[in-house]
Amino acid sequence: MKFATRLVNFEPAPRDPYKPIVTPIYQTATFTRETMDAEAEYDYSRSANPTRAVLERQLASLENGSHAFCFSSGMAAITAVTRLLRSGDQILSDLDLYGGTCRLFSRVLDRSGIRACYADALDPDAFAKHLTPATRLVHIESPTNPLFHILDIQRLSEVAHAHGALLSIDNSVMSPYLQNPLDLGADIVIHSGTKFLGGHHDVTCGAVIVKDEALAKQIRFISNAEGAALSPFDSFLLLRGLKTLKLRIDCQQKNALSVARWLAARKEVTQVFYPGLAEENAYQLHHRQAAGPGSVMSFTTGSVALSKAIAESTHLFHIAVSFGSVSSSVSMPATMSHASVPPELLAQRQLPGDLVRVSVGVEDEEDLIADLHQAFEKAARLHPSSSSASA
Ligand SMILES: *Cc1c(COP(=O)(O)O)cnc(C)c1O
Repeated sequence: MKFATRLVNFEPAPRDPYKPIVTPIYQTATFTRETMDAEAEYDYSRSANPTRAVLERQLASLENGSHAFCFSSGMAAITAVTRLLRSGDQILSDLDLYGGTCRLFSRVLDRSGIRACYADALDPDAFAKHLTPATRLVHIESPTNPLFHILDIQRLSEVAHAHGALLSIDNSVMSPYLQNPLDLGADIVIHSGTKFLGGHHDVTCGAVIVKDEALAKQIRFISNAEGAALSPFDSFLLLRGLKTLKLRIDCQQKNALSVARWLAARKEVTQVFYPGLAEENAYQLHHRQAAGPGSVMSFTTGSVALSKAIAESTHLFHIAVSFGSVSSSVSMPATMSHASVPPELLAQRQLPGDLVRVSVGVEDEEDLIADLHQAFEKAARLHPSSSSASA
């Protein structure tokens, strides 16, 4: 079955005698058994729950994996993956990485003797030189957030495997509709389900998807032992959100393309970072490994004050961290989502202070452009020198 069909066509409640068309919320902490020594499919909801199990089967299918595990947040999902490592092991990541992931890697894992290193992964051969015998995990995003670098997933999986390391990819910016990293050689796919999978800014969730039985067994063990699995109600919200994933992203991408072209034509805008701008050579690799550019982008203006005034003058783009929802949002990564990046790494990666990240929703395209237009005009009136300086 094709992706669109798989989104809505699946067994919603295996063995439920009432045959519901939608997966019920099995809001129970524990399950009874017939006798003391009877085997039961479900035992305790921390270990497994029927609502979560349907969601996990669904996500495994959408990512072409064999097993998926859902967690209470994207960070809980990433944390579970890092539990595969032991004291003395190293993680190697790209320089452009979600701020919360950097914080976990650099400020929490160090307490358990795990070291995080960062290097530019744009050139896989140069990146390979940073792997050591202690490197057990290579963790990347593509496109990276918020600079939209495109990393060669297949080449990086070869580099990781040649050194005996696993490759995990945070696929939150793309969603399984646009990119399936397991097919490109990755061992582990991670999602912040808070973003596109949920799609409505109403649930915090994370997922780990794998294709290898032994790896699945380890993640299942970790999830049960640590107890951060997703609740039945939140699993239900995810199942509900997922059904419209393709519809939402098709619409968001169409709107995003118009917004990106409009931004690129503005005299105040110095650069737009978006894989949908076809004239950019850098994005050819993206179109080989993904089915679309997505609906998140960022741009610079050359002036922090002007960028801030633009973001604060919009009405339809809510000032909010996060992306991927049906409603548009705007943020400034340097002071918002990526403020948690350790200063030494921030210096190395050079995240521009005037960078504005935009997540485009399903609103009417003309309304979105009109809103940006009035925001740019207002910001230019407030900061006439900055806007003409970059013209
Ligand atoms: C938001 C985000 C996370 C963290 O997910 P939460 O659900 O907020 O814990 C991880 N990676 C990326 C790329 C994200 O955008």
